[in-house]
Amino acid sequence: MNFFSTNDRANKTSFRESVIKSLPADNGLYFPEVIPSLDLKFLESLHNRSLPEIAYHVLSLFSEPDIPSEKLQSIIEDTFIFDIPLVRVEENIYCLELFHGPTMAFKDVGARFLARTLSYFQEAEDEETTILVATSGDTGGAVASGFFNQAGINVVILYPSGKVTPLQDRQMTTLGGNIKALEVDGDFDDCQALVKQAFLDKNLNQRMKLSSANSINIARWLPQSIYYYIPFMLRGLDEKIVCSVPSGNYGNVTSGMLAKKMGLPIHRFIAASNANDVVPRYLESGVYEPYKTIQTIANAMDVSKPSNFTRLETLYDHDLQNILRDTSGYRLDDEGTRHVMQACYYQNNYLMDPHSSIAYKALHEQLQEGEEGIFLGTAHHSKFMNVMHEAIHPNLELPEKTKQLFEKERQSEKLKNDYKELKAYFYSFNNFL
Ligand SMILES: *Cc1c(COP(=O)(O)O)cnc(C)c1O
Repeated sequence: MNFFSTNDRANKTSFRESVIKSLPADNGLYFPEVIPSLDLKFLESLHNRSLPEIAYHVLSLFSEPDIPSEKLQSIIEDTFIFDIPLVRVEENIYCLELFHGPTMAFKDVGARFLARTLSYFQEAEDEETTILVATSGDTGGAVASGFFNQAGINVVILYPSGKVTPLQDRQMTTLGGNIKALEVDGDFDDCQALVKQAFLDKNLNQRMKLSSANSINIARWLPQSIYYYIPFMLRGLDEKIVCSVPSGNYGNVTSGMLAKKMGLPIHRFIAASNANDVVPRYLESGVYEPYKTIQTIANAMDVSKPSNFTRLETLYDHDLQNILRDTSGYRLDDEGTRHVMQACYYQNNYLMDPHSSIAYKALHEQLQEGEEGIFLGTAHHSKFMNVMHEAIHPNLELPEKTKQLFEKERQSEKLKNDYKELKAYFYSFNNFL
C-alpha cells in the first residue's frame, strides 16, 4: 500500500519509505492511500481466530508488498508476546488491559512492531541507524525495550531530569547495550527542542543516519488498531461496544477509528482527556484552539497540540458532524481523577493508573442503556506509584516483577540543556573526531 501526506494527497510513498522517513517533508503525517474494507467472512470469524492471525490479516493489507508474508508473521509473533485480557470491573464496564507487556504500557506493541520492521528494512543497508527520541516518561521505556538488541540500530533517549517516575527511569537506564539514556537538565519541551534541532542539523545528518520512533510513525500507529479487535475476538459481534480511550497525542484512539472505518463494528468512541482538553473543546465548539500545556498527574497525556489530530480530520474528511457521529469528548482534572481512582478501588477493588481512570470515568458519565463500555487500560498503576500513594494508600507496594529493576545498575549520562553538548555527545559516541 502507498501512503500520502495529510497535507498533500499527491505526495505518495511506499510503506517502507513511510516507516523509514517517519514524517513527510511537508510536515503532514503519512496516511493510507485507501482504507481497506474487511470482508464479512473475516469479521464473522474473529471469534475463532488468534490475535496474531487477526493482526496478520489486518496489517498485511498495509505492509504488502514491502514486508514478505513470512517476515510479517514473525514480526507479529515477536510483537504480541503478552496477554491482553478484558477484565470486568463492574456491570457493563470492562478494562482492556494493555499493560502486561515489558514496560507495562500500551506503547509496547507499537514500539516492538516499529523496531522489528525498521530492523528488517535496515538489513539491506550498511550504515547503522540512530533512533533519537525525547520522552516525558512512557515512550522512552517502550522504545528502549522494543529496540533493545535490534541489529543495526542504536537508540538515544532524552528525558527530563527528575520529571519521570522512578520506575520509568529504571526502564530506560538499566538495559545498556544499544540503548543510551541522557538525563537532560530541563523539562520535556527542552528535550523535544534538542531532538528537533538535531534533526534539522544538516552537518550532523550528513555524518550519521538519524531516525525517530515517535508515535506518528505508521509502524507505531497501525498495529495499535489491533487492540480494538480483541473485544470482538472474545465476545463476538453482537454487542454495542463503546471504546473509551485515554488520549494525549490521539494515536491510540485514531487507530481504533481506522479499524471502525475498515468495518469493525465498534459502536462509538469516547476521546478521554485530562485538563489538556483541546480535542473535547473542538468537538463541542468546532473551534480548534490549543492552549499552553498543563501539567497533570496523567502526564503521558499532557499534550496541547495532539500530533494525530490531522489523522482524525483526514479519517472523517474534515467534517465535524462526521466525527461527532462516531465520537464524543470527555475531560477530567486532577482532583476528579484522584477521586475516581479512589472510588473505583473502594467499590470494585480494582486499581487503575491515572490515565485509564479518566477513560473509566468517561464511561460512567456517558454510557447509555444497551451499550457495553470498554475502557483501554493504557498503563499499569505501578508506573505512577507517587500518585497511587497519594490517592489510594501510602503502603501500596510495587509488584514483585518490577522490583528487580531497582537492583540493576543505572546507566545514564547527564546532559545540559544545550544543543552543543548533545552534538558533542554524538560525535564522541560515533568516534567521529
Ligand atoms: C501515551 C499514553 C497515552 C496517550 O496515548 P495517545 O496515543 O498519545 O493518545 C495514554 N496513556 C498512557 C499511559 C500513555 O503512555
